[in-house]
Amino acid sequence: MASSASALSELHQLATAVTEQHHSMIVRDGTRYQCLICANSARDMWNSREHMYTHLDHSLVDRMDAFMSKVVVNQGNHVYTCMICRRVLKVQLHALKKHFLHKHFRLNA
Ligand SMILES: [Zn+2]
Ligand SMILES: [Zn+2]
Repeated sequence: MASSASALSELHQLATAVTEQHHSMIVRDGTRYQCLICANSARDMWNSREHMYTHLDHSLVDRMDAFMSKVVVNQGNHVYTCMICRRVLKVQLHALKKHFLHKHFRLNA
């Protein structure tokens, strides 16, 4: 496993890249967040982040997946320990990705 210092610097790079791509593909439309790539209009930032994940560069998604595999301990039976926040998550894999998207791949978290 990578040392925590390099993991944190990689996390910051990923969070910056995700945030930049997100900001490049949405505009605030009143209280909603309009996607510039498709017609989606999200009701809040949370939904907007989940939506923009579907548009992220595949190379960035690959880096996010590789990072998660380094900092998540798979305990089996859909139990994972996130070594960044030390939470034990009993979730499906796609929900684990959402945990990272909302909690860790963001700036000022
Ligand atoms: Zn969209
Ligand atoms: Zn976590």
